[in-house]
Amino acid sequence: MNVAVFSGAARVAVHAAVAEPVTAARSASGAIELRDVSVSFGKGERQVDALQRVSLTIEPGTFVAVLGPSGCGKSTLLNVIAGFERPARGSLWVDAEPVTEPSPERPVVFQQHSLFPWMTALDNVAFGLRMSRAPDATERARHYLGLVGLSAFAQHYPGQLSGGMQQRVGLARALAVQPKILLMDEPFGALDAQTRALMQEQLLKLWEEWRPTVVFVTHDIDEAIFLADRVVVLGVQPNSVRGSFRVEVPRPRSAGARLDAAYQGLYQSLFALIREESSKTFTVGAVP
Ligand code: ADP
Ligand code: MG
Repeated sequence: MNVAVFSGAARVAVHAAVAEPVTAARSASGAIELRDVSVSFGKGERQVDALQRVSLTIEPGTFVAVLGPSGCGKSTLLNVIAGFERPARGSLWVDAEPVTEPSPERPVVFQQHSLFPWMTALDNVAFGLRMSRAPDATERARHYLGLVGLSAFAQHYPGQLSGGMQQRVGLARALAVQPKILLMDEPFGALDAQTRALMQEQLLKLWEEWRPTVVFVTHDIDEAIFLADRVVVLGVQPNSVRGSFRVEVPRPRSAGARLDAAYQGLYQSLFALIREESSKTFTVGAVP
């Protein structure tokens, strides 16, 4: 891994020869790199190309939103990074290590919570910590439940909590292991607008505490801009990266960030792009 000593052009040649990640040269923590990643489902006429030659470099500690219309491969991309899905082609590294399987260092928060219904909120949060044999699992779980504002509900079971509270328990569970990478697949998609706005603000506060790398999938333009440092737009046909946009809205952000000129300018650009991509999913044909 002596690529750093080469000049730019030579380094590209070396990469091509040995397929090493660009991020290998850095002492990175939470760096993610995908090169030409393709994923297909099914065979023959039924084959669906869920991701087509996706290349992406995510710097450690950045909050990246992945935005795109339904079916463009957002969840597939997240599942690949999580290690749930193996790409048919291409390469994927986390901190210069090839990803071959899921890891507790890369927890995923889904839209539908995946809490154990037979465990209390506290035990759900402590579960991952106990699995990794953390000596102070219960205390740490209490701390993280407190951070998401649920100290008073530690002994409640998931069925006794609202949808928003369940998502907060799920978030506390993912955060409690202090992962260097946090993966989120439309985690607030099922919440009402008010709860969703509060959850977004709370997530930003928690993220700013120790800044893990976050990959946050959403189809909501506002959510993407409000949360992220960078918005990566996935398109359809091909299901690949259509664009990458730096979010210049200053942090810390509150609801008023939406009045920022940078927010509004980016909103317009993303709206136009997403509209163009979404319209491709409508086939114009003869009505029977
Ligand atoms: P998004 O999350 O952006 O809505 P997905 O990643 O879920 O998109 O899906 C991308 C494409 O791959 C879609 O056409 C979807 O139908 C297809 N797909 C995803 N998972 C599977 C699967 N397990 N089997 C077959 N097709 C799938
Ligand atoms: Mg999805």
